[in-house]
Amino acid sequence: MDIFRKCFEYEDARRAREMGFYPYFRPISSGQLPRVEMDGHKIVMMGSNSYLGLTMHPEVKRAAAEALEMYGTGCSGSRFLNGTLEIHVELERELAEFMGKEKALVFTTGFFANLGTISGLAGRSDRIFIDAMNHASIIDGCRLSFGKIVKYQHNDAADLEEKLKATEAGIGKLIVTDGVFSMEGDVADLPALVRLKKAYGARLMVDDAHGIGVMGEHGRGTGEHYGLESDIDIVMGTFSKSFASVGGFIASDEPVIEYLMHHSRALIFSASLPPSAVATVRAALRVLRDHPEMRTKLWANTRAMKKGLEELGFQTGPTQTPIIPIIVGADVTSFQMCKALEKEGVFVNPVISPAVPPGKALIRVSLMATHEMEDIEFALEKFEVVGRRLGLIGERVRG
Ligand code: PMP
Repeated sequence: MDIFRKCFEYEDARRAREMGFYPYFRPISSGQLPRVEMDGHKIVMMGSNSYLGLTMHPEVKRAAAEALEMYGTGCSGSRFLNGTLEIHVELERELAEFMGKEKALVFTTGFFANLGTISGLAGRSDRIFIDAMNHASIIDGCRLSFGKIVKYQHNDAADLEEKLKATEAGIGKLIVTDGVFSMEGDVADLPALVRLKKAYGARLMVDDAHGIGVMGEHGRGTGEHYGLESDIDIVMGTFSKSFASVGGFIASDEPVIEYLMHHSRALIFSASLPPSAVATVRAALRVLRDHPEMRTKLWANTRAMKKGLEELGFQTGPTQTPIIPIIVGADVTSFQMCKALEKEGVFVNPVISPAVPPGKALIRVSLMATHEMEDIEFALEKFEVVGRRLGLIGERVRG
């Protein structure tokens, strides 16, 4: 059998394109601003993870340009060999200090940070306990490792406890959870996870890709939100969201980082983060630290959008963060809504199975600190028009 047969027979994307509601790989011709340019039109961006809106921040852009000028475009090697610049080391020191951990380690993407950490840590005699709604990079990190994977029901501490209880003595245990769940915006029950990790001698890793920069008084993430930072054994973050670039990191105890520096294949066998990205992240970290008012604005925008959507009658699910899901049910409805909103001038993302359970497709709305009230009002108007047209909300007029 030809291994390409599945490719020749794959029709879903083509069919969706023909029907006019293919919602992926849409080219944007401007920066990730509150209004982006698409097909020659300005359209309100409500699908970006640039929570603080720093990708176009003058200080951040200047830092990237200066690093580009000074160090060139790339490092042409892995951190392990020729690809470590002094600014990588500086960034790791600053991240460790910010997160209140002994040491940090930077990877080339957030995906790689999870992949390289979990697969580097979990050996044959270890068990990894993962939330059913964790990000794909955690799942793939587990699959790459030699450890046994145990999935527990979403944010269900009782289910996790049963599974921990059933684990024989002498087995190394790692609990891994998203801090903020990336599709529905709900927050992990860290107090329960911390209690369980202590009771059962496990370690806790939190992927705080959507929490750092957003949650907690100083933006240190879900751990800070709960006052439990020191109980998280490994915290992971990405640079592709609040940090306005690409890349990822973990922060932990020094021996854990030292071990992974010499055992993480995603780190050792992949080229390091380019200088402009390193400088971007350092500058974004400074801005994030020095301008808490950005976070205040992000939360004000989030509250306004959520309130508006709920007043319109949309079902917004369990979110507690700037990720606001609108549950629409069928995959096809989320595609239709996404394309209809695009035509009306609003960019949002569709989320379908397997990222969410079958029949629970949603539209993922995400807010930025740089949105103005007029962007939110505009988007809500368009949500009302499209929501009514698709029968997702009734005739009630907002007010
Ligand atoms: N973890 C979570 C929870 C994410 O949402 C993402 C990206 N969407 C990643 C990890 C991977 O990060 P990156 O895009 O920086 O590779």
